[in-house]
Amino acid sequence: MKRYYIAGNWKMHKTVAESVALAKALVRDLADCKDRVMIAPAFTALAAVAEAVRGSNIVLGAQNMGPDIQGAHTGEVSPLMLRDLGVSSVILGHSERRHSYFETDELINRKVLLALDHGLELILCVGETLAEREAGRLEDVVGFQVREGLKGVSAAKMASVTIAYEPVWAIGTGKTATPEDADMVHAYIRSVVSSLFDKAIAEALVIQYGGSVKPDNAVELMAKVNIDGALVGGASLKAETFVPIAQFR
Ligand code: PEP
Repeated sequence: MKRYYIAGNWKMHKTVAESVALAKALVRDLADCKDRVMIAPAFTALAAVAEAVRGSNIVLGAQNMGPDIQGAHTGEVSPLMLRDLGVSSVILGHSERRHSYFETDELINRKVLLALDHGLELILCVGETLAEREAGRLEDVVGFQVREGLKGVSAAKMASVTIAYEPVWAIGTGKTATPEDADMVHAYIRSVVSSLFDKAIAEALVIQYGGSVKPDNAVELMAKVNIDGALVGGASLKAETFVPIAQFR
């Protein structure tokens, strides 16, 4: 049976106490969840949330990391520091990093390689803007982000890579891609990965959909053959909305 992967990106929300309270509620409410669940609190709450999820089925993730291991990189966090806190996964290339902080595909690729070299799993986010979609550039843009993001990644390391397709126009806007549209893009991403590696790796790849996923649209999205999970922003901030998404079946 397919095992879905549901991840919650808490973004720049919640104090340490609020983060721990939510993590504890999820540990309790998702103890029987059949699918894989990851939460990515703010850096400031990682250590405390690591304690709260210890021994549970919830994976601890980070929302970003720097492209270096250590040194004079003011304000950055390295994969060694994340591992030290018990983090096992990191979200890279989120559209907010690409568009608000001007992260390039080259920088994202450096982070991808570094994360994999230091034993972290990762979620590589890709997605087009509305202008790019309307200009008929969806496949060019998403294909480029996948190819550049995965440049230099070995076939063996692909087991630690998840891709999240997050159309930028659907993030935090309440607009969701139709399940059919999302499925088509996921199939396209799989074909790009197949051309980079092989069919078996492309078929085994987990591709999450992200963009205004809510309890009432999760079932239809997950029903699509190429959708293997969700990266959830707004609805991951409350147990009342995240738990039903993680337990959509
Ligand atoms: C996200 O930030 O990755 C996201 C998908 O946000 P939202 O669910 O709020 O659209």
